Amino acid sequence: MTEEINKNKKTIEQLIKIHGVENVLVDKESCILYAQDIHSKTIPAFAIIRPKNKDELTESVKIANKLGHAIIPRGGGMSYSKGYVPLQEGSIIVDFSRMNNIIEINEEDMYVRVESGCTWETLYRELESTNLRTPFWGTLSGISATVGGTLSQNGIFWGSTKYGSAVDSVVALEVVVGDGTLIKTGSDIQKNSAPFFRHYGPDLTGLFMCDNGALGFKVSATLKLIPKKEFREHVSYDFSDANSLFDALSKISKQELVDACVGFDPYLQKVRMQRESIASDLKKLAGVMKDNNSIIGALKDSAKIAVSGRRYMDDVKYSGHFVIEERTKEAAIFACDEVNRICDHYGGSKIESSIPKILRSNPFTPLNNVIGPKGERWMPIHTIVPHSKSHEAMKKIAKLLENNQLELDENKIGVGFLYTVISNNGFVIEPVFFTPDSIDDIHREIVEDNVLKNIECFEDNLDARELTLRLRAELLRLFEDIGGVHMQIGKSYDFKRGLRGEAWSLIKNIKDIMDPKKVINPGVLSLNVNDERD
Ligand SMILES: Cc1cc2nc3c(=O)[nH]c(=O)nc-3n(C[C@H](O)[C@H](O)[C@H](O)COP(=O)(O)OP(=O)(O)OC[C@H]3O[C@@H](n4cnc5c(N)ncnc54)[C@H](O)[C@@H]3O)c2cc1C
Repeated sequence: MTEEINKNKKTIEQLIKIHGVENVLVDKESCILYAQDIHSKTIPAFAIIRPKNKDELTESVKIANKLGHAIIPRGGGMSYSKGYVPLQEGSIIVDFSRMNNIIEINEEDMYVRVESGCTWETLYRELESTNLRTPFWGTLSGISATVGGTLSQNGIFWGSTKYGSAVDSVVALEVVVGDGTLIKTGSDIQKNSAPFFRHYGPDLTGLFMCDNGALGFKVSATLKLIPKKEFREHVSYDFSDANSLFDALSKISKQELVDACVGFDPYLQKVRMQRESIASDLKKLAGVMKDNNSIIGALKDSAKIAVSGRRYMDDVKYSGHFVIEERTKEAAIFACDEVNRICDHYGGSKIESSIPKILRSNPFTPLNNVIGPKGERWMPIHTIVPHSKSHEAMKKIAKLLENNQLELDENKIGVGFLYTVISNNGFVIEPVFFTPDSIDDIHREIVEDNVLKNIECFEDNLDARELTLRLRAELLRLFEDIGGVHMQIGKSYDFKRGLRGEAWSLIKNIKDIMDPKKVINPGVLSLNVNDERD
């Protein structure tokens, strides 16, 4: 016991020496807050460190190694699958918020290099003065979500229907692995080179993508730049059933017509409409005005949105929303006509395009939707399937929920669905649970005061919580059975269970090399969970 106390004291002293006392948090509140994610809370962290640069981080990783502490990367903390939630006592959490600089915008060689704690919003704003962007340019959580966190789990939304998921935009990385060694990837592995190109020998960049922070600490990332597309169109359609919406989403993505798209089932749509007030719509209208290419267009759009308000969504069933971005007006109009034609073909009815317009002109809004409209606990999960399996997958998911509908109703748990497509080959189905259960410190920290003060605070509701978790486990098992894959594996999805044996052995061997003492993020990707399956 005394030995343990002495060891811990020594660790803290050494961490303070490296980062300064203000960047080593050991107070109870911080250790609890930083250790919980948007959905889960286990044990508090031992300490939180906030390195200023890769050298400081390297020193701390070496100390964790020497003194036997687990050490866990945390970006914006916007995930909900226990990615950075500690499973072991004595865990040090690395908060990347001070490593948030844009290192280089290289317009000549078409790449941008950022420290991994840089948020998507910061990157977006920095690139505003250029005529360039990254192909994938952020998650809806990009006001807080970091480049490093997103590449570690993979992420989708802005740009991903045309350009693929976050990791597809990456050229090179710098990663600190378990023993403190700094590894460069991409063309940067060549002694005299720079991170301008991804592929040179085996794809070491790919090795660290989607590793959920199991193999090392990404300290910087280089992303590809492409020309901005200034001409935009927005389209929304209403479909009478999920299959027609799915067919339209699939066809549109296969034709590579839109930058981003999203579909909602009637429940999620209703939640969206309840979430915020007309007042906040009007605030967002300012964004639409600012964002429009022409003043007349801006006035027309804003007037239409203001007049139609939310009424136009009242009878909408399954809605699909599309953002088209092209380099010429003609190309944008062509894509828009094609989207209309495809939606008409699948029986859709055109509706006001306020949702994609408002979304696109305010791409990174405050994250008040980490809770439901009445203050419910919010829990999304998702699966990615090929287009050919989307109908069958949805049918099975709906059946599973239908079999539990009585219990869901008794517990007043709502389940809605979000759908989208990644590039032209990944169909995403995202069930979202709204459970009347208590929220945590992390939600109070994120949600704006004016929203918090208008919501009901639910008491702990253990029955509803248990049911939500049971259904999540059953759905994850179902996703596996239908061959679905996921981003955000973290410690919630049982990664190992669904893997082919050879793949699991290879991943385990890679972990052994990168992190021989198994100090980095134990338990993530089912690695080092200290049970017989490991
Ligand atoms: C309201 C809301 C909206 C969302 N919208 C989207 C969306 O549109 N699209 C989408 O894909 N997701 C979305 N998400 C999920 C989540 O925000 C994203 O997955 C996001 O990319 C997580 O980034 P982060 O920086 O918060 O990572 P964190 O949650 O901090 O970490 C995620 C994982 O990465 C690891 N990690 C973090 N930083 C590093 C690093 N530097 N090196 C190595 N490992 C690291 C962590 O250990 C953890 O396993 C949303 C979440 C919320 C709450």
